[in-house]
Amino acid sequence: MAFSLLIGGQLVSTRETMDVINPATEQVLAKCPVASRTQLDDAVAAAKHAFAAWSETPIGRRKDAVRAVSDIIKNNAAELARLLTQEQGKPLGDATREVMGAAMFFRNFTNMELPTRNVNSEGRKVELHRRPLGVVGAIVPWNFPLVLMAMKVAPALIMGNTVVLKPAPSTPLSTLKLGELIRGALPPGVINVIAGTNDLGAWLTAHPDVRKISFTGSTATGAKVMQGAASTLKRITLELGGNDAAIVLDDVDPKETAPKLFQGAFANNGQICIGIKRLYVHDKIYDAMCDELANLAKGAVVGDGLAQGTQLGPMQNKSQYERVLKIIAEAKGQGKVIAGDRPFTGPGYFIYPTIVRDIAEGTELVDGEQFGPVLPVIRYTDPDDAVARANASPYGLGASIWCAEPDRAYELARRVEAGTVWVNKHADMALEIPFGGAKQSGIGAELAEEGLAEFTQLQVINMAS
Ligand code: NAD
Repeated sequence: MAFSLLIGGQLVSTRETMDVINPATEQVLAKCPVASRTQLDDAVAAAKHAFAAWSETPIGRRKDAVRAVSDIIKNNAAELARLLTQEQGKPLGDATREVMGAAMFFRNFTNMELPTRNVNSEGRKVELHRRPLGVVGAIVPWNFPLVLMAMKVAPALIMGNTVVLKPAPSTPLSTLKLGELIRGALPPGVINVIAGTNDLGAWLTAHPDVRKISFTGSTATGAKVMQGAASTLKRITLELGGNDAAIVLDDVDPKETAPKLFQGAFANNGQICIGIKRLYVHDKIYDAMCDELANLAKGAVVGDGLAQGTQLGPMQNKSQYERVLKIIAEAKGQGKVIAGDRPFTGPGYFIYPTIVRDIAEGTELVDGEQFGPVLPVIRYTDPDDAVARANASPYGLGASIWCAEPDRAYELARRVEAGTVWVNKHADMALEIPFGGAKQSGIGAELAEEGLAEFTQLQVINMAS
C-alpha cells in the first residue's frame, strides 16, 4: 500500500515517511508520507489560490461537488472501512458504519442553507449575508478519523471555503486514501490532505494565510491551538475532551438499563469524546447495576477488528494503551475491580473492559478523561448531590440522566453544565442537532446551521432606503 499527500490536485510524495502501526498486531501496516514545512506551505498556497474561484462558484454547484464526494466514499466503503479497522483498531462493522456516516454527512449537509436575512430596521434596508472565510485548516484526532473529518470538511466546502486537512499521525491512511479517491471530484486545491507529525498542526494553526482552524482533539492541544491562532486572530472551533457523567436514578431497572449504559461507556472501546466516563448510580440499585455491568463486561468479545464477532478492538495506540493500563493499576488501590483486570495474551494493545466499583472523586479514573475501556461506578444517595458532583469538573461536553419519570429527569437535566444532556440515552447525535462543549470541552459548535455558520463571516449590508 502506497500513500501520498494531496496538494493542489496532485498526489505528492515526501522525502520522509513514518510507520503506521496496526494496533491489533503491533506490526507496521504501511508507510505514511511526512509532509515538510514547505509542503504545508504549498498546500495552504494551493487552497488560497483555489479559494478565489471556489468561493464565487454558485452554492448549488458546490453542493453537487460535495454530493459527488459522498458517492465516492459510499462506492469505496469496503476498502476505506478495512483500512480504517487496520489503522484504528475498531471492528469492521463499526468502521463500515463510520465510513457510511461520513458519506451521509457529505450528502445531507447539502440539504442545509444559510439564506440571506433581512433585518427590520426603520429607515434602512439591511441584509445579513454569510460569506466564506478563506482557507480552513481541519485538524482531526485518531478515534473517528473519517466521520469527524466529514463534520468539518463538508460544511466548510459548501459555504465556499477551501480546506487543508490534517489527520492524526497514528491514523492518517484512510484520510490519505480518501484524498486520492476524491481528487477528481473537486477543482485542484479546493481540498488538500497533508499528513505527518504534530508539528503540522502547530504550523497550520499559526499560518498567516489560514483563516480558520476547525479542531477536534484533547483539551490540552485545544489550548495550544487557541494560542497559536491568536497572533493572526483566526476563527477557531474547538471540539475537545470530556468527562461525561451519567446519573442513574433509583427508579430504573438495572437489567434493562445496564446494556445501554455499557454501550454508552464502551463504544469504540471508550475512545469517544462523548462516552460515559463517570457513572453515578443511586445507592438503592447500586449493587444490582454493578453486577449487571460486570456481567456485560465479562461477556464482551475482545479481539482483532477484522475477526468476525469482535465487539471491542484494541486501544488505538501504544501511548494511550499504556496510559489506560496505568489508570487501571492505580484504581485497584482506590476501588474494587469487578470485571477486567486480566492481561490479554498475544500481541496488540488490547485491554479487557474493566468495571471499578466503590470508587470516588479524587482519583484519576473519576476526575480525568480515561479515554479507554474502564468505567468507574460511583455511589450516591441524593440526586442534587450527584448533579453537583457531575458539575464539579473542568469539562462539560455531554451528560445523561437515566430515570423512569421524564419530568424528574428533565428538571435535573436542566441543571447539568454540559453542551448536551441526554435523557435515557447517551451520545445520540444527528446532522440537524448542533453539538459543542461547555467549559473546557470546547468553543463553538459543529453540525446543524450553527455548525455551518462557523465556516462563515457575517457580512452586514446596510443601505439608506
Ligand atoms: P490530540 O489533541 O493529541 O490530537 C488531535 C489532533 O491535533 C491530531 O491531528 C494532532 O496531530 C494535532 N495536534 C497535535 N499537536 C498540535 C498542535 N500543537 N497544534 C495543532 N494541532 C496539533 O488528541 P487525540 O489524542 O488525537 O484525540 C483524543 C482527544 O480528542 C480526546 O481528548 C477526546 O475527548 C477528544 N475528542 C473530542 C471530540 C469532540 O467532538 N469534542 C471528538 C473526538 C475526540
